[in-house]
Amino acid sequence: MGLPIYLFEKNKILGKKLLATGNGRCNIHNLYTRTSCYQSSSFTSQAIQSILEGFNFSEFQECCRKMGLLLTQQLDGRVYPNSQSAKSLLEVFSLKLEEGKVRIHLEEEVLNIHKDSKNFFVQSTKGTYQSSYLILACGSEAYPKLGGSNKGLELARSLGLEIVQTYPSLVPLKLDTHSLRDLSGMKLKVKITLKVDTITKKEVIDDLLFTSYGVSGFGILDISSQIQTSQDNVLIIDFLPNFEAEFLEQMLLKLHKSFPQRSLLQLLNGFLPPKFARVCMEVLKIKQCHTKNIKKLIFCLKNWEFKNPKLQGFENAEVSGGGVSANAVKINTLESKAVSGLYIIGEMLDIVGDRGGYNLAFAWASARVCAESLKRSHKT
Ligand SMILES: Cc1cc2nc3c(=O)[nH]c(=O)nc-3n(C[C@H](O)[C@H](O)[C@H](O)COP(=O)(O)OP(=O)(O)OC[C@H]3O[C@@H](n4cnc5c(N)ncnc54)[C@H](O)[C@@H]3O)c2cc1C
Repeated sequence: MGLPIYLFEKNKILGKKLLATGNGRCNIHNLYTRTSCYQSSSFTSQAIQSILEGFNFSEFQECCRKMGLLLTQQLDGRVYPNSQSAKSLLEVFSLKLEEGKVRIHLEEEVLNIHKDSKNFFVQSTKGTYQSSYLILACGSEAYPKLGGSNKGLELARSLGLEIVQTYPSLVPLKLDTHSLRDLSGMKLKVKITLKVDTITKKEVIDDLLFTSYGVSGFGILDISSQIQTSQDNVLIIDFLPNFEAEFLEQMLLKLHKSFPQRSLLQLLNGFLPPKFARVCMEVLKIKQCHTKNIKKLIFCLKNWEFKNPKLQGFENAEVSGGGVSANAVKINTLESKAVSGLYIIGEMLDIVGDRGGYNLAFAWASARVCAESLKRSHKT
């Protein structure tokens, strides 16, 4: 459109968070992006869908190809740069900004914003700037080590926008129980069921990593987005998800018959990592090998309960839930209803996605909605 664009970034480099995404590979999008992969307390699923539809995966891919970035997809729908490196993405996007003559102000934090009847006055750590449009794309306070902060929401609040209370999401969980702490560092493929007020909210089969404070791993991060802090949350872990309880009981009984000299722990060592088996037997205080104990052991291994897990803070959260409320913006443009010319995009909005490329997919789509709107208002 030939408009002069100023981009303020408080970090020394652009895209510090992008470089860390997907463990450095950047899970940039997902082929199966759909509204059920997102949570919000103010945006309806229709509103989320309309934002996503404005820039679907094919359009995004086409746009990346035009810029010179080749993408590749996995069978599960996750999309990555073909190089499997977030650096390729950053390189190509940065070049595009340079070629578009975007004025990039690195290590310059925006501190305050005011608006008179016509213009925004942006005060940064290095100066004051004036503009007729302003896009807030400041992310969230998740992962402060990579630049996450709540400054963007503070700026939005100072301009009068309604904010939905934020919370860490895609985050490890703290547990009160110390019983399995000896297993810190051990990772197991398990089935995790989250019950909130006795109702099943989510089930996943994925990694669980024991830590010094509780549990982490991909399965736990996925479950964390459904924890309702004000309600009664229970995690139920199936440590042997590939087998039915009855099969496991029968197998242990048969093994006990064939090898009566073996202890129950020695039998279990063939089912689960021996260290895990030992700690479980100690916690459950099961010693003798007989039918009742075998049934109890298998029941516990398939229905291990962790009551009231707590979300770890923003320090280790990949994203933040909550943010600028749907009540504050026009859905078809993402422009503020009250402050004309002010746009909010990305994670600042009260929309948070699951793991799997959905958060970046939303960031691109919301940016597109805003850009299209600016294009229309510039034409008129
Ligand atoms: C470790 C990690 C891994 C992740 N992996 C994935 C993944 O693989 N796939 C996926 O889809 N999502 C992933 N995410 C989530 C994803 O990175 C974010 O949802 C996405 O980056 C949000 O984009 P955004 O533009 O809204 O905000 P951000 O990417 O956070 O960008 C906001 C920028 O604004 C700057 N800023 C903030 N306030 C100011 C200010 N006042 N003045 C100047 N600059 C300011 C910040 O420094 C930051 O660079 C991951 C997140 C983390 C932390």
